[in-house]
Amino acid sequence: MPACTLQALKQRLSLFPKKNLIHLPTPLARLENLSRELGGPEIWIKRDDLTGAGFGGNKSRKLEFIVADAVAKKADTLITWGGTQSNWCMQAAAAARRFGIRPVLLLFKTTDLRPEYDGNLLLDFLLDADIRVREARKDKLLPAGVAEEAVEEAAAEARSRGENPYAVAVGGSLPGLSMTQPLGALGYVAAFVELEEQARTARLEYTHIVHATGSGATQAGLVAGARALGRPVEIIGISVSDPKDDFTDIVLRIAEETGSALGLDPGIRRNDVIVLDEYIKEGYGVITAGVAEVIRLVFAREGIVLDPVYTGKAMAGLVDLVRRGRFGKDDRVVFLHTGGTPALFPYREPLIRLLTQGAEKSPA
Ligand SMILES: *Cc1c(COP(=O)(O)O)cnc(C)c1O
Repeated sequence: MPACTLQALKQRLSLFPKKNLIHLPTPLARLENLSRELGGPEIWIKRDDLTGAGFGGNKSRKLEFIVADAVAKKADTLITWGGTQSNWCMQAAAAARRFGIRPVLLLFKTTDLRPEYDGNLLLDFLLDADIRVREARKDKLLPAGVAEEAVEEAAAEARSRGENPYAVAVGGSLPGLSMTQPLGALGYVAAFVELEEQARTARLEYTHIVHATGSGATQAGLVAGARALGRPVEIIGISVSDPKDDFTDIVLRIAEETGSALGLDPGIRRNDVIVLDEYIKEGYGVITAGVAEVIRLVFAREGIVLDPVYTGKAMAGLVDLVRRGRFGKDDRVVFLHTGGTPALFPYREPLIRLLTQGAEKSPA
């Protein structure tokens, strides 16, 4: 029994304040060449890399709700954290600036990349964000505890200057700090509704969604949306950083809180949350030859650029799942492109190295 109809879910979502930051709906298209080449299920793509704010990406959907909350609370400063090439931090800073809010970014060095003005960090600089780079453990996305403490400190400092800061966790995912409801995940409940409507128009009866999971609200919102509507679609999150049990707990918690925030009891069970961790390989932000090859393959066959940290890893996972027979021939899989393409350029060195090993290739 579905807990709710599509119209009723839209109505409930409309009760939350929202700012228009992006162009919706994002395109839904069939990946004909890739589907044919892999010889498995029909593969479709939902282009959330084309949300249209900055260079696009999933965080903008979340920020439509989060920035509206910050504006309602009369915030003049937005404080958050991420890695030095954080897509979240860049999109959060861009969204904040549009509403006259000063962005403060605590950027943890979670990879070996030099923190130079390139990719997202260059965009942060162009936005004149208050950038503070911190040391961190490598290969992990969330410096748990450490980051929260640093944010509290930055918030106290802002308050002592008479500012009104709005603090939010990495990825806009976990409720807490100034964001008392799972507003990020609401963006992905709305995205699920959008996908349902598009799929109906396209007469696409999709059976699976595959995407990258990082801080959890994208998957939580999709799961909450699917369960609220009673859709038996399987949602597979490819972890880019943490073990599956940890992420399953986080996604489940955010999904349950999202159901409550919407005034629904969608009855989400632990086994509704599928997280795969075998594609993390060498850790967060470390790319392998498999990821580099999949970026080349999808660009060449479909003209679509993936990023090295999230969507490249998720697509490498999808390709492997198809090859291992995880899907039936009649299944229809939607790959959610969550953005992240500005990080492609700072990864030029490992990309070139991994794709030219053995071969002598150089443009010079
Ligand atoms: C943040 C991010 C994700 C993961 O989304 P979460 O909601 O944090 O799990 C996936 N892809 C890209 C490109 C991202 O920037």
